[in-house]
Amino acid sequence: MSKRVVYMFHSIGQLSANDSADIHYNFSTTKFFQLLQMLGNEVSSIERSMNIDNDCNAVIGFDDGHISNYNIALELADRNYGNADFFINPSTIGQKDYMSWSQLKELDDLGMSIQSHGLDHVYFSDLSAALQTYQLEKSKAIIEDKLSSPVHLFAPPGGRFNEQTLEACHHAGYRAIAHSAPDNWTDSTSFLIPRVPVHSMDSAYSLYSFTRDRSFCLQRMRLAYQLKLWVKQALGNNRYDRFRSQVLGV
Ligand SMILES: [Zn+2]
Repeated sequence: MSKRVVYMFHSIGQLSANDSADIHYNFSTTKFFQLLQMLGNEVSSIERSMNIDNDCNAVIGFDDGHISNYNIALELADRNYGNADFFINPSTIGQKDYMSWSQLKELDDLGMSIQSHGLDHVYFSDLSAALQTYQLEKSKAIIEDKLSSPVHLFAPPGGRFNEQTLEACHHAGYRAIAHSAPDNWTDSTSFLIPRVPVHSMDSAYSLYSFTRDRSFCLQRMRLAYQLKLWVKQALGNNRYDRFRSQVLGV
């Protein structure tokens, strides 16, 4: 398979005053469609790319199941731009700021791929092996039951996972983990699929440049990711989150 970039989005467009979405990962609708235009208005999902050999070098996905993803998915389908993966937590579906099961069913019927982000939005690296297995099996079973479509992919909340997660995913019947350490996706059979996290401050062009031979952009992002990982490991997940909210003011 040719080199691909897997973009990881969260909420898209203007958020309401007390929206629970993380504003640092909120991306503007205008920039989203600018990026798509640069990509030739053709994107694919990981699920589709694993099963069908296509030429599409841009893959997109959305974590968390935010309500804004519903309209974006309808527009993708309406404009015939392709499909995307939606990594959701069954425990938040139907709640304020999140899509409902009937909306997800609509997206599933349109060919979108609905996958697991865990049963709850918890850091897997903080869980025992047994709890990780429970989260993986339960979320998979609920999504498959509600939508009658197979779940093959897992995106760890906050990108936090460990060796036990790999084993638990294999055991629960997942085909791959879509994580958040930025890199190109070069092997459709690999169990670990790197993604490029999209932040609110990113420009459409800087994101587009990952699909060109602009490896310095990717190297810079990898370095920033590695630094963040060291801080997370040094502080632990709870202290890191408190530190982050003090620094970012959220
Ligand atoms: Zn998440």
